[in-house]
Amino acid sequence: MIASSLRKAFEQTDPWGLLLKNLLLPMYCYGCGCRLLTEEHVLFCPDCWENSPRIDRPFCERCGKPHQRIVGLGALSNYPCADCRDKPNPYIRRIWGAAYYDDAVGATIRHFKFQKKKIVLPPLADLLIDFAVREMDGEQYDALVPVPLYHTRLRDRGFNQALKLAEPLLTVFPDAVLDESLRRIRPTNPQSRLSGNDRVRNVRGAFAVVNDTLAGKRVLLIDDVITSGETVTECARALKRGGASVVDAMAVALACPSPYFDA
Ligand SMILES: [Zn+2]
Ligand SMILES: [Zn+2]
Repeated sequence: MIASSLRKAFEQTDPWGLLLKNLLLPMYCYGCGCRLLTEEHVLFCPDCWENSPRIDRPFCERCGKPHQRIVGLGALSNYPCADCRDKPNPYIRRIWGAAYYDDAVGATIRHFKFQKKKIVLPPLADLLIDFAVREMDGEQYDALVPVPLYHTRLRDRGFNQALKLAEPLLTVFPDAVLDESLRRIRPTNPQSRLSGNDRVRNVRGAFAVVNDTLAGKRVLLIDDVITSGETVTECARALKRGGASVVDAMAVALACPSPYFDA
């Protein structure tokens, strides 16, 4: 597995070798500009990485979006938001997101995906794993299914970022297998360039399950970012058509306004 071998490579880094590398090829934090003295994250210093806002309780137990924090009320239970109570997603039982698509986490995802920097996979995978261990206790899945790329985009990028993120999560869900029978059967435009109904039209009918391995299975669909949810909803529609009994979705980041920035 790439994540574990990278981690192993980091653990085995000789401190003198790292010092030499830092002298010859100094690396600086993309956030604050300080000198990077470890290789745990090759873009951000530990402070900038840790300060990038995570999604904490309470969050919506359907769409995963955080509720406004209420200070001093003891244990924070999750509950559905008004949107999900009024109009629950017909195909996805619940969405999980570990962080906001913002700050260091957002920048790292963009480097991973668009600059093809696979070296930033370990901190992103750790973010997913930490969230799953903290918040998804008791959740059982039979299959982890990455949101697929159309074959021409996969060829251009060289890897599917959702598949790379799904692989390390198998350590948290030992009963699950990686399943790639969900395919993108026609090219789509990047959802980030569209809005409203154009997003729905863009992905409508774009996915299909190509065999029956997911029949009766509990599926966790994996993506890097969930914005308005049309892509994962359309994937889930195809998965349900393919016989999946339950579909949840999980992403490193949700693109939603952060309550921390409201003031
Ligand atoms: Zn920094
Ligand atoms: Zn909700």
